[in-house]
Amino acid sequence: MDCIFCKIIAGDIPSTKVYEDEQVYAFRDINPQAPTHILVIPKAHIESVNAVSPENSGVVAHIFEVIPQIAKAEGLTGGYRVVSNCGADAGQTVFHLHFHILGGKELALEMA
Ligand code: 5GP
Ligand code: ZN
Repeated sequence: MDCIFCKIIAGDIPSTKVYEDEQVYAFRDINPQAPTHILVIPKAHIESVNAVSPENSGVVAHIFEVIPQIAKAEGLTGGYRVVSNCGADAGQTVFHLHFHILGGKELALEMA
């Protein structure tokens, strides 16, 4: 499959790993928008939030258990933002479900 994030999970494209377990992989965004910018992805290929279903939502719950652990390890004691862009209008560019963790500074509230 021609998916950048599947290739990152397979190790075919290098990445800076920050966390890994059986279901989840997390790595630093190549184009950081904040001092800490990490992407958390399921190892199973899921296209976007729109493709989350009763069959695969367990990994999404697991991702949200892992996110606070990563935030703590990264020292994001002042808080952080979790973002998932879904579809073209949101600016999704990689169609493998991912959650951005953004932190390390006071983030702007602008969402548009
Ligand atoms: P989206 O815009 O789909 O929500 O986010 C995709 C993110 O993936 C972007 O922030 C982009 O910088 C990041 N990205 C795209 N290709 C690569 C890559 O090859 N390596 C890493 N580490 N990040 C990538
Ligand atoms: Zn994929």
